[in-house]
Amino acid sequence: MNYNVDKDGFYGEYGGAYIPELLHPNVEELKLKYLDLIQSPNFQKEFKNLLKDYVGRPSPLYFSERLSEKYGFQIYLKREDLNHTGAHKINNTLGQILLAEKLGKKRIIAETGAGQHGVATATVCALKGLECIVYMGAKDIKRQKPNVERMKMLGAKVVPVHSGSKTLKDATNEAIRDWINHPEETHYIIGSVVGPHPYPDMVAIFQSVISEEIKIQMDGNPDYIIACVGGGSNAMGAYYHFLDDREVKLIGVEAAGEGVKTNKTAATIALGKPGVLHASYSYLIQDEDGQIVEPHSISAGLDYPGIGPAHSFYNDVKRVKYVSITDQEALKAGLELCKIEGIIPALESAHALAYLKYLRAKPNERVIINLSGRGDKDLHTYINYLNK
Ligand SMILES: *Cc1c(COP(=O)(O)O)cnc(C)c1O
Repeated sequence: MNYNVDKDGFYGEYGGAYIPELLHPNVEELKLKYLDLIQSPNFQKEFKNLLKDYVGRPSPLYFSERLSEKYGFQIYLKREDLNHTGAHKINNTLGQILLAEKLGKKRIIAETGAGQHGVATATVCALKGLECIVYMGAKDIKRQKPNVERMKMLGAKVVPVHSGSKTLKDATNEAIRDWINHPEETHYIIGSVVGPHPYPDMVAIFQSVISEEIKIQMDGNPDYIIACVGGGSNAMGAYYHFLDDREVKLIGVEAAGEGVKTNKTAATIALGKPGVLHASYSYLIQDEDGQIVEPHSISAGLDYPGIGPAHSFYNDVKRVKYVSITDQEALKAGLELCKIEGIIPALESAHALAYLKYLRAKPNERVIINLSGRGDKDLHTYINYLNK
């Protein structure tokens, strides 16, 4: 079984590049050049150095003694929360900014929902002295004020998007429109393993540093790897070098929101049907007329109506088991990690932790949780829950 993207940009039937004609030259240029550029010794040297000295990699693989004791099997946390800017997203934005530089692009655009990807993009643009424009729904700008301020401090221009539901998918549409209007000088940094080919593969390669490190940090293979799934980039990074090792069981945790049987959910695999969103064919939460249903999750990073095409494929061929966790379960699991280990996890990562109570692993089995980010950004949500 081939778990990687094929030469036309598909994982099974999923993926592809369903783009407007005007973007064809840009996407084609990326498609023809990305692998050679990324694999060149020059690129690798600079990327590796910055991952080490700027991001702070390798991130530790921490054996969590007290969680292990509580659940009755061996639990390790891959500490992406310790990265510069507080999550795994910087692995990808750093890779893409180097790529943009090599392609001679002077202008960077991005979309953001919660602002985490916007901050990671603004950060690397500051590092490289490149112009940065971030599209963000007007509603999200109100909800995510600290991240908007961070982006501005880092020198980015944040453009409010007033169309549609004024959230992430509208911001993405606006970013695509900008790209169509300024194709020559612009690189569009997409924040997850979504969008037209070659983005899903490119982002997966940049995030694969996570599993590359796990292979070195752990003696032999783990039995389970568990990661939360929004678009699916931290999960792809954690799975990547284990995809062919069939004995390693992979679990992806989606956000059930208030429950998969309510309308307020973001569990794309559980409820979605295949369709095209943001230039790629994959599972989507849509109504009978094919209209996107506005998703809901307590964690902004999982609040996306789609999922990367690789995950749709891994679901169909049963390489990864996808499960879902509610808002309440995630809040509880996040607060448990605070008390048991002194680590405040991002609410996204708390979804992965919450699955531990359902996992039937044996006492000697080793389970890795990809702790995708830290919870500073979620303090008010945790505190509101505690005060209720
Ligand atoms: C953005 C984000 C996610 C979700 O994105 P993926 O592409 O699915 O990884 C998960 N965790 C954190 C901390 C995030 O910031």
